[in-house]
Amino acid sequence: MDNLRDLYQEVILDHNKNPRNFHKMANATRVLEGQNPLCGDHYTLFLKIEKNMITDISFEGSGCAISKASASLMCAILKGKTIKEAEKLFKLFHEVVTGDIDPIKHLAELGKLAVFSGVSEFPMRVKCATLAWHTMYAALHDEKDSVSTE
Ligand code: ZN
Repeated sequence: MDNLRDLYQEVILDHNKNPRNFHKMANATRVLEGQNPLCGDHYTLFLKIEKNMITDISFEGSGCAISKASASLMCAILKGKTIKEAEKLFKLFHEVVTGDIDPIKHLAELGKLAVFSGVSEFPMRVKCATLAWHTMYAALHDEKDSVSTE
């Protein structure tokens, strides 16, 4: 677990400094806002869905390092995934950040997402880490209202 902890610092710092897919998307098929008022995280998520596949995904906005790194990693991992695969990862990621499963046993599916298991020790931070994911999930289900963790 020590390795995961070191990697956690590295991944969060890297993705916070250089977020991937951090831009507006002009031809998005779904656009949804998500916010976590407790921390001040506020993002807009852009999805392009074609034939049940996420062919493109991006985000913009601002917030703490954990929320931004989580959104960045989520976009990188979900690009090219089917909606079904995205829903499965959403569930798995949620179980990782709440400490319900051992990420080591699911490394193949999780990849770098596994580093977020460190968040389970800080309940306040779970909302930061899951904000982008909840927003993505709502967007997939065509919900029109913005997502709030409160
Ligand atoms: Zn936050």
